[in-house]
Amino acid sequence: MRLPFDLIAALLAVEAIGRMHPDTRLGSAVGVHGALLLFWLAVWLMHELVARATEWRTRFGHLPQGVPGPDGSPPRLHPMEFHARWALLAQAASVLLFAFFLYEYNWPQRTQYWPAWAGLTPERLQGWFGGTYEQGLEWSRRLQRSQLANGFLDLFPFLVAMLVSWIPKLRLLDGRSSSRVKLVRWLGFEARLTLLPFVFWMAMGLFADAWYFGMPFAPEAVRRWASSDTVQAMVVLGALLLFFLAGVPFLIVRLWQCRPLPEGELKERLNALLARSGVKTRAILVWGPSGMGFANACVLGPWGPMRYVLISPGLSESLSLEECEAVVAHELGHARYGHLALLGVLLVGLVSLGTIATQWAQPWSPLEQSALFFALIVVYFRLLFGAVSRACEREADLASAELVGSPLPLMTALVKIALMAGGIQHVYSWHHDSIAKRVERLMRDGLDRDRIARYHARLRRFRMAFTALVALAAACAVLLAMDQARAERRARSGRMPEIVAQDRD
Ligand SMILES: [Zn+2]
Repeated sequence: MRLPFDLIAALLAVEAIGRMHPDTRLGSAVGVHGALLLFWLAVWLMHELVARATEWRTRFGHLPQGVPGPDGSPPRLHPMEFHARWALLAQAASVLLFAFFLYEYNWPQRTQYWPAWAGLTPERLQGWFGGTYEQGLEWSRRLQRSQLANGFLDLFPFLVAMLVSWIPKLRLLDGRSSSRVKLVRWLGFEARLTLLPFVFWMAMGLFADAWYFGMPFAPEAVRRWASSDTVQAMVVLGALLLFFLAGVPFLIVRLWQCRPLPEGELKERLNALLARSGVKTRAILVWGPSGMGFANACVLGPWGPMRYVLISPGLSESLSLEECEAVVAHELGHARYGHLALLGVLLVGLVSLGTIATQWAQPWSPLEQSALFFALIVVYFRLLFGAVSRACEREADLASAELVGSPLPLMTALVKIALMAGGIQHVYSWHHDSIAKRVERLMRDGLDRDRIARYHARLRRFRMAFTALVALAAACAVLLAMDQARAERRARSGRMPEIVAQDRD
């Protein structure tokens, strides 16, 4: 799975600039279209330059990273790493350009006119639903506030920019895989891997719209019940929990077009492994296209009845049966040692910290608040999540050695995967560590049962302490949010706090 920080930053920019209302003037339509085209062109050009520079580094196709020097000096930067660094800079520049475009052309205000663009005028709505012209106007106003439509339109320029930015990368991929991949197929594949936060945002928009448009039709008792802060908070929390436990695995399996594992020896052996591990799993599925050199596996869903293990065809094509077993055993290790639930705890921690930080930064402007929140996300993920994720990878590696009975098949599988991906064994990954390091650790600890048991105990202690800490932060965040809601209601009603307090009794 991939964390698209650029998309998250773009979402936060939309939120912040939408709340700023810099002015109500919209400027000429020609200017906006010209600016959009220039924005997309600039994004493509930046990524094209990065791809060209990377190609130049791989021009001989041999040992792209070189070898460590005789004095032990490290090998030079791997072209993939070079590409990742410069692509990250290009992404940061794209987000800044997008934020400038949003602000300068008043884009979030402009998109609120979408019912008029789509021909949904008050007259037409009146014709469809009957009633007076005023009611038609009211429907048109309500549509203007649709979170689903506005959310999509606000982000649309950046979604196109993301597609454009992936085009140059395809050439790099073509350089190392034998078969040529069609552009549309490649873009679809990248989009499926990257756009999960966007799908989540759209799902939230749909949920908010269903609430907003459905409420006027609900009976009086339901409406009164739904207007309570506590009920709204419970509904939102319940929806998020359900989304995390069941919605995310359900969506990803469909978004990534997963298919059942074909009948055969591999399926039999993996099912036997599953039974032996004692980890409850709904299915092992095949994920992703074949022939793209894409070799990966993952496990989805903290909750057994909605848990899937996914393996790519590239993996089963190039690894032996024992190696496939070891890779799946690694994924089962993630499930068995509660890493997926820990991911949920990490997210709750981030949201709680975000709530506390936003309260603290109340006097700041919306843009500053969003910048603070984004900085918090980056620091939280790169430092805390990165360290936790690397520790979990290590535990899952050891769990694989335990379940399969030997660390060897996972070690050879990792080395094969690194070679197939262009010799990336020394490339450091902030959430996985380098493959060379993982192999080294497996060699050292993989057969030492005592050491493995001590490592499991250490991580179990960490999980418990961290969960307690997050529960504390979440309690603080809920209290602060309730306080805030009360203060807002007080400000709206303009009454003295004492009277409001009496009213509530
Ligand atoms: Zn893993």
